[in-house]
Amino acid sequence: MANIGYLQVVRHCNHLCGFCSNPTTPYTHDFESMRVLVDDFVARGYFGIILTGGEPTLHPELPRIAAYANAQGLHVRLITNGSRLSQPDFAQALGDAGVRLVHVSIYSTRPEVEAKLRGTEDTLSKAYAAIDNAARFGIEVNINCVINKLNAGHLHENVRVLVEQHPHIRHFVWNNLDPSMGRAEVNQAMFTPRLAEFELSLHRAMKFLHRSGRTFRVEKVPLCYMTDFAWASTETRKIVKNEERIVHFLDDKQTVRQTAWGHIYTEACDACTLRTICGGLFDRGDGYDPAELHPVFVPLQPVVEHILGDGTDPSTRPIGFAQWKKRFTRAQPGHATEQSAPDASVIPVGRVTERGQRLYAAKRQAEGRKAKASGIELEPSTEE
Ligand code: SF4
Repeated sequence: MANIGYLQVVRHCNHLCGFCSNPTTPYTHDFESMRVLVDDFVARGYFGIILTGGEPTLHPELPRIAAYANAQGLHVRLITNGSRLSQPDFAQALGDAGVRLVHVSIYSTRPEVEAKLRGTEDTLSKAYAAIDNAARFGIEVNINCVINKLNAGHLHENVRVLVEQHPHIRHFVWNNLDPSMGRAEVNQAMFTPRLAEFELSLHRAMKFLHRSGRTFRVEKVPLCYMTDFAWASTETRKIVKNEERIVHFLDDKQTVRQTAWGHIYTEACDACTLRTICGGLFDRGDGYDPAELHPVFVPLQPVVEHILGDGTDPSTRPIGFAQWKKRFTRAQPGHATEQSAPDASVIPVGRVTERGQRLYAAKRQAEGRKAKASGIELEPSTEE
């Protein structure tokens, strides 16, 4: 098992994506409030930490908390839109602090689509500079992409462009849009794709990367929409390896510990050979339709063996299929998340101060103007 925890270090951002599931809140972190959460991951024996947001590079103490986590033995990763990492000095500071991996998020390599998705013009050149700066200062680079209505048909084009321009990128991550939270929830009609809308393009993208020797993961996509690459499903890998995930949300949710990975299963799933290792249909916010599921009839064993035998995964356990089967518990729906793990619930995730509330109010005003210009809805204020 290689458990990796998420720490949201800020919740504001310099972009305004219409499908952001973690938008601005009045909560803020200082170094001490982050340090205790890092210590908690260490005490739990976690392999690594992902510093995220909001846009985490906007926290003035990001290099310091990264260096602290690294010194405690955690594998330190960062999810960023790349705007600050486009500055070589900042990239060097993160490399010196021990950040080992950055996920630079790019939704589309078509400039006009990327600008619409980000609610901000001219972000691509900075993201590309970030990719190259990170590599220059010894930080591995992955690409993160949220699948949505506007990029659903050209995911394969994105990977080709990125690989051609930045051949050192070896790993890609797709997250199907989470329509349940934040700004994504109020803009569902504009951004939530149907599964069939991206199936072909995602398949072509995965096929291209696989042939080129690169790796990838896909989250919140049922296996019937990625059957040939079922072993790349984040949920399936976690089910097979019995992994958990803790997310420290910088909002009222606080700490969420996820120990099960099943979402919605329908009658179609009963006949499906992959049912026991499939995360099913991501159910939140009623954004996806159960009628879109269909059973598949492919053998389960090769999928499991592929995951167990993956030498690139630090959590790979040298066990065979028979041994795995004895220990394995079938994925169950209905208890995908446990809120506030008992021992973590005593650790507050950030705090709401007067200053934080003032900054939140100012940020909301600026975001309101930007949202209007972009034609998107802003999520309800936390004070409403
Ligand atoms: S039919 Fe159900 S169990 Fe089978 S792949 Fe689709 S979502 Fe998963």
